[in-house]
Amino acid sequence: MRGIALALVTLTSALAAPPQVVTDTPVTQSLTAMVMAGVGTPTLLLDKGADPHDFQLRPSQAAALEGAGLVVWIGPEMTPWLATGVQTTGRPALELLSVPGTVLRQASGDEEEHEDGTGQDHEQSHTGGRDPHAWLDPRNAATWVAAIAGELAKADPDNAAAYAANATAAQARIIELDADLAHRLEPARAVPLGVYHDAYGYLAARYGLTIAGSIAQGDAHDPGAAHLAALEDDLKGALCIFPEAGHDARAAETLASDTGLRIGPPLDPEGLAMDPGPGLYPALMTALADGILACVRGG
Ligand SMILES: [Zn+2]
Repeated sequence: MRGIALALVTLTSALAAPPQVVTDTPVTQSLTAMVMAGVGTPTLLLDKGADPHDFQLRPSQAAALEGAGLVVWIGPEMTPWLATGVQTTGRPALELLSVPGTVLRQASGDEEEHEDGTGQDHEQSHTGGRDPHAWLDPRNAATWVAAIAGELAKADPDNAAAYAANATAAQARIIELDADLAHRLEPARAVPLGVYHDAYGYLAARYGLTIAGSIAQGDAHDPGAAHLAALEDDLKGALCIFPEAGHDARAAETLASDTGLRIGPPLDPEGLAMDPGPGLYPALMTALADGILACVRGG
C-alpha cells in the first residue's frame, strides 16, 4: 500500500505542468532558466538581436503574456513597452529592480558631468530614475535567483524544492563568477574606457572600472554631432572605445581614428547576440571581461 501511494505521488508531481513563465530580456530568461532547470523553460519575449529599450510586442507575444503564470521582468526603466502589458494583463509579475536587497544606481542621463553652460549640447533621453542594467553587478543576479525561486514556488508549489535547490546552486556559481571577474579585471582598473551606451555603471562600480563617456545619449537614441564633439573631450586620457553588439560600429570607429583610442571588440552587455538559456548570464559577464581585457592589454 505504501509503495502504491509513493508511486502515485511521484506520478502526480511528474505530471504537474510548470506554469508558463514569461521573461523580458535574455538576461532575465537566463537567470530564470537556471532556477527552472529540470522543471521547465521560461519564454523569452524579446526577439534575438532586438533592442530591449525599444521594442513592440507582436500579437503572439502579447498572447503569451496574457497566459503567463508568472512574468519576470527587469522593470519599466528597461522595457517600457512591457510595463503596460504587465499592468493590463494583471498576471503575477516579479519586477527584479524592486526585489529587496538589489543594489541600485541612478541613471546618469541627467548627471552633471556634461554641464557646459550652453544647455543644448547634452539633452538626454533618460529622465533619471533607476539605472536598469543592474545584472552587471553579479550580487544582484544572486539576489534575484532567490527571489525568482520564491515567486515560482508560489505559482508552482509542487516544484518548490527544485526551484530552491537550483537557486542555491545558481547563487554559488554567480558568487564564484563575481570573485573571478574581480580578480581578472584588476589590470583594467583605473584605465578610462569609452562605451557605446550608458549600460556599464554597475559593472564599473563593482570592479573599479572608469567609464569616461558613452556614444549613445540615453538608451535608445543615436548620438548627435554636438554630443560626439563633447565626447571627444571626455575621452581625452581614455585608452579604449568599445562598439556594441547590435549597434552600428561607425561612431566608435570614427572616434577611435579621431582621438587615437584603441577600438575594442563589440561588447554585449544585454546578451542580445548570444544564445539564450541558463548559460547566457555567466557567458555574458565573462565575455565583457574578455573584451575589456583584450583592448586594455592591446591585443
Ligand atoms: Zn541598455
